[in-house]
Amino acid sequence: MALIQCPSCNKRISSKAASCPHCDYTLAGRSQDDLEREQERARQRKKETLLSQSLLALLASITAFAYSVWVQPHPDSWQAQVSYAVMGGGVLWFLINRVRLIMVKRGR
Ligand SMILES: [Zn+2]
Repeated sequence: MALIQCPSCNKRISSKAASCPHCDYTLAGRSQDDLEREQERARQRKKETLLSQSLLALLASITAFAYSVWVQPHPDSWQAQVSYAVMGGGVLWFLINRVRLIMVKRGR
């Protein structure tokens, strides 16, 4: 018995299972090729989602950075705190997405 990834929800399931116990995706009657194609498609979708999320994260931190440069709020003001938080959060979110993207590309 081998473990494969469900093409629909990407959870690990038995290759002998007739359907996925997590999402009820039907596996019986599908060839290995079909399953691999489905997996590839799911991976592609995930990559696109992560890519647009990392772009969004980058945009958020650039916007916050531009705001703090142009407006130059007082360092103690809430505007400055918010822009620093968005900057840091955006960079962190971006990095997390890049790591997840690399993991998806490696196939896990
Ligand atoms: Zn599933």
